[in-house]
Amino acid sequence: MPADGGGLVLVLNAGSSSLKFAGFAAMPEGPEPRFGGQVEGIGAAPHLVARNAAGEVLADHRWDGGDAPANHAEALGVIVRGLDQALQGEAILAIGHRVVHGGTDFAAPLRIDDAAMAALDRLVPLAPLHQPHNLVGIRAAAAHFPGVPQVACFDTAFHRTQSWAAETYALPPRFYDQGIRRYGFHGLSYEYISRRIAAEDAALGAGRLVVAHLGNGASLCAIEGGRSRASTMGFTALDGIPMGTRSGQIDPGVVLHMIDALGMTTAEVTRLLYNGSGLKGLSGVSQDVRQIEAAGTEAAGRALEHFAFRVRREIGAMAASIGGIDALVFTAGIGENAHGLRARICAGLEFLGITLDPARNAANAAEISAAGAAVRVLVRRTDEEGMIARHTLDLLRAG
Ligand code: ADP
Repeated sequence: MPADGGGLVLVLNAGSSSLKFAGFAAMPEGPEPRFGGQVEGIGAAPHLVARNAAGEVLADHRWDGGDAPANHAEALGVIVRGLDQALQGEAILAIGHRVVHGGTDFAAPLRIDDAAMAALDRLVPLAPLHQPHNLVGIRAAAAHFPGVPQVACFDTAFHRTQSWAAETYALPPRFYDQGIRRYGFHGLSYEYISRRIAAEDAALGAGRLVVAHLGNGASLCAIEGGRSRASTMGFTALDGIPMGTRSGQIDPGVVLHMIDALGMTTAEVTRLLYNGSGLKGLSGVSQDVRQIEAAGTEAAGRALEHFAFRVRREIGAMAASIGGIDALVFTAGIGENAHGLRARICAGLEFLGITLDPARNAANAAEISAAGAAVRVLVRRTDEEGMIARHTLDLLRAG
């Protein structure tokens, strides 16, 4: 590859009906964002949006005829044709993919070859709702860019530093041995935040962080010296705190009751817990905090109250798992923007040394803790795509 920073790293994140993409220039000091966007509504009413690094719209297209991309491969074809014009001959050096599950084996990014692909296929039963889409994205990219190195970056990998005690469920050991254990997710976000804090303040990076990744999917992670020690998500991304549409942690007895006493099918329970619960289910309004806050109904207020209670409780649990807390970091859509919710979450955590400065919190400042508070409370924008680009470039440069 050119050593002078020529060429691009492409990052792809394939979801059930969307394909997100981002392009990074391969600079000597690391990846530099150039453009990004997504095709959403694949298979229904597809919509392409692309922006440059300054946020200016490069493309915004909806299809109304029969030429609409019907699947991920066709959506990638649309992106590639757009890229061809934008790149003006600049080479794509490698493609990094977000892959939700790396199982027990993959604690680091993986260069894709036939054996790796077979290993990722074997992990589908661990994440049947997400992994197949990620693998479709890899196959589509391999077909479009034959010979271009592909790298899988896992949402679970960062958590593989957790102890057996943190990972196991209290089941007979044979279940742990066959992979029924806590994996944790959002690892690319936590790794990015942990590295960024360490780059800003080496002592804090070596200390004890509790990071709250609060987006449509939401979890918390306890990080000590840059290593994940505990997280709220478990065997699946359904566990932990309530999310946009997911229930979060629920007594398994409730699931048994729904099936045995209420006669619900596993498909109905799956739909309820993944798509009809969380903030949306509780509020009856939306999964979006902005709309719930605007609704002003009693159910909306109670949804936010419950969310804040559960996040607050888990901040305490995460701090306990690493013997204390030096900084609490909020990130992702809710964590970065929803200052009212941040205030509600932190109210009552004074015993841990957490006190907010109301004005800084309302301004979404980078540091929102009160002057003199024992624990720093920070707000940082996460960058999962940037983390994937960094891993992909590092692997490429390592040969
Ligand atoms: P995803 O997990 O899909 O990547 P994001 O991290 O983008 O999600 O978070 C999206 C969520 O962030 C929205 O559904 C909404 O609840 C919340 N959010 C975004 N902006 C704001 C805002 N200004 N105020 C309150 N909540 C916000």
